[in-house]
Amino acid sequence: MIVTKIAVVGFGAAAIGFVSEVIKKGHQIHIFERSKDVYSSSISGIRSDGKLFMSNGMGGDLDIPMEVQREVIDYYITKLGDSDRENVKTGVSFSKDSEYFEMFYSKGFEPVNSHFFHIGTDKLASVLKKIYDEFVTSKNVKFHFGVKINNVIFQDKKIRVQAENFDEVFDYVVVAVGRSGHKLVNRIVERYPELVLSANVVDIGIRYEVPNHVVKKLNEEMYEFKVRMRAKTGYMVRTFCNNPSGKVVLEKYDDFVTVNGHSNSRAETSNTNFAILCSTSFTEPFNDPVGYGSYISKLGNILAGGRKVLLQTYEDFVKCKRTKKLGRVKPTLPNDAYVLGDVNLVLPRRIALSISEFIEKLGEVVPGLAYPDNLMYAVEVKFYSNKLDNDRYENLKFIGDCSGHTRSITYATAHGKMIARNL
Ligand SMILES: Cc1cc2nc3c(=O)[nH]c(=O)nc-3n(C[C@H](O)[C@H](O)[C@H](O)COP(=O)(O)OP(=O)(O)OC[C@H]3O[C@@H](n4cnc5c(N)ncnc54)[C@H](O)[C@@H]3O)c2cc1C
Repeated sequence: MIVTKIAVVGFGAAAIGFVSEVIKKGHQIHIFERSKDVYSSSISGIRSDGKLFMSNGMGGDLDIPMEVQREVIDYYITKLGDSDRENVKTGVSFSKDSEYFEMFYSKGFEPVNSHFFHIGTDKLASVLKKIYDEFVTSKNVKFHFGVKINNVIFQDKKIRVQAENFDEVFDYVVVAVGRSGHKLVNRIVERYPELVLSANVVDIGIRYEVPNHVVKKLNEEMYEFKVRMRAKTGYMVRTFCNNPSGKVVLEKYDDFVTVNGHSNSRAETSNTNFAILCSTSFTEPFNDPVGYGSYISKLGNILAGGRKVLLQTYEDFVKCKRTKKLGRVKPTLPNDAYVLGDVNLVLPRRIALSISEFIEKLGEVVPGLAYPDNLMYAVEVKFYSNKLDNDRYENLKFIGDCSGHTRSITYATAHGKMIARNL
């Protein structure tokens, strides 16, 4: 196949990986991004937080060699200025020498080994700008900002890419719209259902917030501690996205809000937050995990009286009592974004039981992790895209999170690189 004109839909981590490789091959590359410019926010970890992981145990189901992961991390870090590069926080979660490995393991947890580097939300804009500047100065790359692609359709052997005021044919199309681009992906797979390999998982849980001193040693040693455990309910429960001195934030969707967390490169608060998530998978006849996660999130918003989340202390959660007064831990989420309530009214029993067992066990390893006035924000949801088949069509590829095969910056970027290298 001779490729001359390529469309890249979305400009996030996967697109960066793809373009950084394909740019050298001399094709004509058009990048379509719905945000109005490179700085505009979109729901994307490449614009918020910026923790880069190197791990075989997390980030996606692709087999990405460690040297490619390392290449991706170096690529982003070299985009920082000299002093910022020196300030990148780095650590290893559960190296075999860590005293914590056995402490968690003996209580039934599976510690996840990963190496990571934290850039910080405040530094991401300049990293993105540097990448953008490198791409845009190349004669064969053209950016189209503020263009939301709403359809991708085969036309003979070529592919039509359509937006409100745009309709053009390309030789090769790479869809890289992340999870926020699910509407476009849904539209494509409705027309080409043979692309779907499987669809059945959503992760649902809470964001947990504790004082820094409780996890000081853990944070100092590994910055991000990652453990998972099979609860008595049969659900796999895991920690995710630890933010030392970080902030809890709302994640805004069109018709509901959920909770998330991030941190800047400089310590800003006296709390650490991380997610506790349960993986929920379904079998026939149900096949709408996104619908399930959205429904539960909306229920949380209804009880919180609008576009807000519920906040409860751990003790009240265990006692199934609405929280009316907080204790020593001060929320980092602004108080107009939450309402004190009872998370048990929102989470399905199986998830609530799994989470309380998980926190109780965490407290057996680090007692402060089960202090009664620690904070639980609900709902946190991680949606996964359908797993899509990239071998089905020679000139239509899905890269990064929208392919269902990645869920991290490193994996999404590496996926883009690998598809480009095979082009
Ligand atoms: C709040 C938050 C924090 C995160 N923090 C981290 C972290 O610290 N470390 C980590 O490894 N992972 C993190 N993640 C996950 C990480 O962001 C993703 O795994 C990664 O960015 C996926 O890359 P992607 O290119 O597939 O999608 P994205 O990076 O999301 O990029 C997709 C792009 O496509 C654009 N787009 C969507 N639809 C259309 C359309 N129809 N037309 C044109 N453009 C469109 C979007 O605006 C977006 O710019 C975080 C995610 C979130 C939501």
